[in-house]
Amino acid sequence: MKYFKETEFNNFKMMDKKLLAMLDNMRELYGYPIKITSSYRSPEHSIEAAKQEPGEHSYGAAVDIVSDGGGKTFRLVKAAIEAGFTRIGISRKKGFIHLGIGYPGAPAKTIWTY
Ligand SMILES: [Zn+2]
Repeated sequence: MKYFKETEFNNFKMMDKKLLAMLDNMRELYGYPIKITSSYRSPEHSIEAAKQEPGEHSYGAAVDIVSDGGGKTFRLVKAAIEAGFTRIGISRKKGFIHLGIGYPGAPAKTIWTY
């Protein structure tokens, strides 16, 4: 990757290669550093275990990144869409954006809030 170190992911080997390429491209489009707060989560991770089915993070098909809201969130979401992300979750309360590329059975194109 051009902009991210493997150590920025908690388990780089488990990350989807397509997502990594898209994330690098998004970073290029955005033009500023992007901080990853969550990446791969095993199905046993407390957040995943609490769900009916493990989510996108357990497929290595999603990351959460820091976003403080306002114009920054707009520019991050814009870059994410331009880079091809089609599953975007925005948390204003916790200050992050979820970026996903999907997994079997997940809606292909969606934006949600937390
Ligand atoms: Zn997430």
